Amino acid sequence: MIKVFYRNEQSVKPFQSLSPSAYKPKLVVESWKKIAIPIKIVSFQPCDRDSIKRVHDSTYVDGVLDLKLNNGFGNRCPLLRDSLLYNIGSFAGAAIDSFKNKSITISPSSGFHHAHHDHGYGFCTFNGLLVAASLLSEIGAKKIAIIDMDAHHGDGTINIIERLGINYIQHYSFWEQFRQYDDAHRWLEGLRNELLKTISNCDMIFYQAGADCHINDPLGGQLTTSQMRNRDHIIFQIALEQRIPMVWNLAGGYQKNIVNLLQLHNNTIIEHYRAINETKPLSQGA
Ligand SMILES: [Zn+2]
Repeated sequence: MIKVFYRNEQSVKPFQSLSPSAYKPKLVVESWKKIAIPIKIVSFQPCDRDSIKRVHDSTYVDGVLDLKLNNGFGNRCPLLRDSLLYNIGSFAGAAIDSFKNKSITISPSSGFHHAHHDHGYGFCTFNGLLVAASLLSEIGAKKIAIIDMDAHHGDGTINIIERLGINYIQHYSFWEQFRQYDDAHRWLEGLRNELLKTISNCDMIFYQAGADCHINDPLGGQLTTSQMRNRDHIIFQIALEQRIPMVWNLAGGYQKNIVNLLQLHNNTIIEHYRAINETKPLSQGA
């Protein structure tokens, strides 16, 4: 069974926004339940204020959580504020479970990588990637690879790494790497070797399986559906072959037709399941 760390509190009711990420978790999990992949929904604790302050400016954290500052969506909605704590809790819970059990887990969460140390934007408020990395390093993770396949730059992640002098993270950015090739076929050809470099000496992988790099995405547009599936397959294969635990999440995706967007997230879990069945699992239940 593939563990999906999900609680309803991760989603708010759909509202007018360019980004569906605040209500995407519920839709994605419902979509996954309809396909023939054995998943197990796992509960978790929402993230607490102090854990977020491990990687963010204290005044910023208090300002957003006390509704005195805007969140990354540019509003001060209390339910959306609450959902942030559950989305970080989902990612951190899935990451810790994966690390301890040497498996691949899923967090249907988004909205992390643009969150800087003292501000958020681009539908990102707090950097759940960095919160989880900080918690994992405390329980023994030595080196964590963040493979960020969102179409956009993980500028918030880089900002926090530099600001806090974090030395236990190796970062791969699709946005940065793809620009060097500017050709999807050539980029995919080199992907396996690039990822092997990124994950070398790592004992944990975070994979942001962004859907906004799809050619039909209004804010992305680099990869076809089958190229995205190849991307996913290469990543899952490498994690399993190298026996490195991994957690993956949703990240961006802005196609107006939500059914098309959900299909891309379906494809990632299908590739996850396919890779497990092709490769010897990391452990029972991987
Ligand atoms: Zn993006």
